[in-house]
Amino acid sequence: MTARNVLVTGGNRGIGKSIAQAMAAAGHNVVITTRSGDAPEGMQSVQGDVTDTASVDAAFTAAEALFGGPVEVVVANAGITKDGLLMRMSDADFDAVLDTNLAGSFRCARRASAGMIKKRFGRLIFISSVVGLYGGPGQTNYSASKSGLVGLARSITRELGGRGITANVVAPGFIETDMTAELPEDRQKAYKAAIPAGRFATPDEVAAAVLFLASDEAAYISGAVIPVDGGLGMGH
Ligand code: NDP
Repeated sequence: MTARNVLVTGGNRGIGKSIAQAMAAAGHNVVITTRSGDAPEGMQSVQGDVTDTASVDAAFTAAEALFGGPVEVVVANAGITKDGLLMRMSDADFDAVLDTNLAGSFRCARRASAGMIKKRFGRLIFISSVVGLYGGPGQTNYSASKSGLVGLARSITRELGGRGITANVVAPGFIETDMTAELPEDRQKAYKAAIPAGRFATPDEVAAAVLFLASDEAAYISGAVIPVDGGLGMGH
């Protein structure tokens, strides 16, 4: 295995933390971004807000200093929700979700691209959601931001595919996080009944897909949408 320099946005908690831990356990050099700059014990972190181009630039520059070289793998994981029905969705809530989830991922990919082109190696991994292609009531902003990542990854693939750079989307379904744990039991039961696997995923199951996409063995996979959803969204 080749140890890579991996940057995980929003790696301080939830799915991003599992991805960062799995990457480190596999022997990669890992830096996470957090908005506060505070990291869980044992993790290297840099401060960064993906809605701010200058902050993204500073986070990459700080990460490159810690690595002593360019960022080779970007996991664009930072994401937010601001759910609401279409009729009542405010411009501010629509824009905020697009700005973080889609434009934030674009800003990170753009900042990483020069170093990756020079190195003739790069892995851009965008954390989307089953909702991106399946849709979700009350989630027009979130779903649009997550499906936008597919166009982003596929256009990057066409632009940079000849330079040893891959760009892929991982689309998790329901994951056991604080968010899903808070769902009332009857809602959890109903969701699980709709998932062919009959259960939610662990964050580690998302991390395993990301780890593979970052590997040398995944060099010929690009522009793909990898579902980690127990079959919930198949066909989409
Ligand atoms: P959490 O809410 O637990 O964590 C979100 C992370 O994103 C935090 O680290 C947060 O940082 C960071 N973040 C938010 N806004 C910004 C910003 N402007 N700049 C930098 N970092 C930011 O999320 P999850 O772990 O549940 O989700 C991670 C990703 O997976 C998201 O993209 C989400 O959409 C996606 N996903 C989650 C699913 C689930 O079931 N949980 C299902 C499908 C997809 P801070 O600590 O500073 O707030």
